[in-house]
Amino acid sequence: MTITLSIPESLKPEDGRFGSGPSKIRPEQIAALDAGATTLLGTSHRQAPVKQLVASIREGLREFFHLSEGYEVALGNGGASAFWEIACASLITRRAAFGTYGSFSAKFAASAANAPFLEDPVLFPGEPGTYRLPELTEGVDTYCWAHNETSTGVAAPIRRVAGSREAGALTVIDGTSAAGALPVDISQTDVYYFSPQKAFGADGGLWVAILSPEAIDRAAGVESSAHLEGAHRWVPPFLSLTTALNNSRKDQTLNTPAVATLIMMENQIRWLNNNGGLAWATTRCAKSASILYSWAERSEYAAPFVVDTDSRSNAVVTIDLDERVQASQILSILRENGIVDAAGYRKLGRNQLRVGVFPSVEPADVMAFTKCVDYVVEHL
Ligand SMILES: *Cc1c(COP(=O)(O)O)cnc(C)c1O
Repeated sequence: MTITLSIPESLKPEDGRFGSGPSKIRPEQIAALDAGATTLLGTSHRQAPVKQLVASIREGLREFFHLSEGYEVALGNGGASAFWEIACASLITRRAAFGTYGSFSAKFAASAANAPFLEDPVLFPGEPGTYRLPELTEGVDTYCWAHNETSTGVAAPIRRVAGSREAGALTVIDGTSAAGALPVDISQTDVYYFSPQKAFGADGGLWVAILSPEAIDRAAGVESSAHLEGAHRWVPPFLSLTTALNNSRKDQTLNTPAVATLIMMENQIRWLNNNGGLAWATTRCAKSASILYSWAERSEYAAPFVVDTDSRSNAVVTIDLDERVQASQILSILRENGIVDAAGYRKLGRNQLRVGVFPSVEPADVMAFTKCVDYVVEHL
């Protein structure tokens, strides 16, 4: 059953893209593609113009995240999903511990469980809609969790597990949908990795990882011992963090990157830094998120999915609807009206809206989104 309903233009957001990744790409980023149409696009990534782009990304992220001495920015192809395999191949010595509280945090744990040369990971599972951090565990050399669990709209704190650093363990954080949207103290992590299609408003396909000196040393040690006779670990070049870092230090990638993605990401990082950096971006996202949470709390048919207010994400907002209104029906009407991608995570299976409120999204558009949903529900 499709009901076609026209939402009045006056209620609609200026831009109707509310995805949690891919997410809105600003017109200025598209203009940057145009500006680089003959000087960057279709040119060699081994030559100065594209290398300068990569250098600007690395330098811009250094500024954005206030990186201290010794931390380095590495990047490569394959997105955050590829980075999970890189971490299994190049970072985990023997055994990792994972907080798992949604699809993304669980996927990395599954990769580690499947790596034949690693011991079974220690899992700290939390219910969807909550988070759970890994706890200090004997024999664990790598602690992993997600800053923002994109499948449920939960934000977890980023601070080292007490005693883990003293034990020589690394803290490896999936910042994919959090980086650029949620506050973070990178010194509490050894690896903070993400993809550019969320808060950095670019296309997917790339991974970026901020590495501590300890993470760099760990990878070098793990990879060199993997090459010793009798070692059962295979580190193919594509999963070698050391190789990726060596290329990054030269402002290159191991293999050919999508130059368009680099252009859009570089433009976004400059835009963020010019506006006030991490503090500005996170305040803007918090404002957008609070528009949605307070709307849901006032609403007669909607409520925030995440009960604990401190765990509610300011990057990806999940809103449950009561059974009298069908999310699928609202979403299809919104889509007909150019308002797209606000669906809940499919595998979570709830009657839910999920809104990406990354820095590119205008808070006024988030307000308009709530008005449009109200309009649709009233006119069903
Ligand atoms: C989107 C997402 C990923 C996967 O990113 P890809 O670039 O598609 O590999 C991993 N983790 C989190 C938390 C995400 O939001």
